[in-house]
Amino acid sequence: MAKPALILHGGAGARRERNYDAEVVHMREVVEAMKARLDAGASALDVAVEAVVMLEDSGLYVAGRGASPNLAGDYELDASIMDGATGKAGAVAALQGFRNPVVAARAVMDRTPHVMLAGNGAARFAAEQGLARVEEPAAWFTGAGKGEDNHPPGVLSHGTVGCCVLDSQGRLAAATSTGGMTAKRWGRVGDVPVIGAGTYASNADGCAVSATGSGEYFIRATVARDICSRTATGASVQQAADAEIAEVGSIGGDGGVIVMGKDGVHAFSMNTSGMYRGAVSSTSPARVAIYGDEEAAR
Ligand code: ASP
Repeated sequence: MAKPALILHGGAGARRERNYDAEVVHMREVVEAMKARLDAGASALDVAVEAVVMLEDSGLYVAGRGASPNLAGDYELDASIMDGATGKAGAVAALQGFRNPVVAARAVMDRTPHVMLAGNGAARFAAEQGLARVEEPAAWFTGAGKGEDNHPPGVLSHGTVGCCVLDSQGRLAAATSTGGMTAKRWGRVGDVPVIGAGTYASNADGCAVSATGSGEYFIRATVARDICSRTATGASVQQAADAEIAEVGSIGGDGGVIVMGKDGVHAFSMNTSGMYRGAVSSTSPARVAIYGDEEAAR
């Protein structure tokens, strides 16, 4: 029996001048609720989806309810999931009209022979699956990533959510969900639904990854897959994460990653000033942090 562990993030766009008390309180609730699920024997895949659903529904991050519109005024959401035990994966890109993109991504993995469905096809599939819709986007979405208090005009912001889990049977899983970058072009798809860029999990490589940041760079650097290649060849999860974030920085990207290893040891790495994140395991209490210097404080 493995000792279950979970880490999650709420994006790498935090700025010190803004108050994030609501996010910190909520993230702690998610971490504690998911610890209870893991202790009760829930699977890594189920816990990854449930954690991301809680983050999507909170409206506090730029994912799910918190998504903000693209330049055309539409809400196009991306999400993905990967099962480290089987190597299966599912994703949706530029999905409109549905409440929980991560649930749609899981359905793509479980119920189709495909890995990614996009745009109208993704929406038709989600409708066929009877997934919860957003009837009134204007009333539903909070646009957490918009608003002048949060991001100055002209600054592309990010606030993706993600989760990596090791369950009691030693299975790894990772899931990520986003509204993308604020003020993105219509049809723009970032790293989040691209397996190997924003999300990757492999028991064989001993690694599960969820990323957040300037997605174009994370795609170009194949961040999540690279981190798992590094752990597969002997790097620790922290070494692998730091090396990959350095590589993203070297080509001009910014953001962060959360990484779970097969032994339940985790790593956070970022080149931004903050990244909301939480962690818990069967042997260590829940911790939530935003910046680099207060990990022990909360
Ligand atoms: N990586 C996301 C994207 O490019 C943005 C984010 O992490 O907030 O769509």
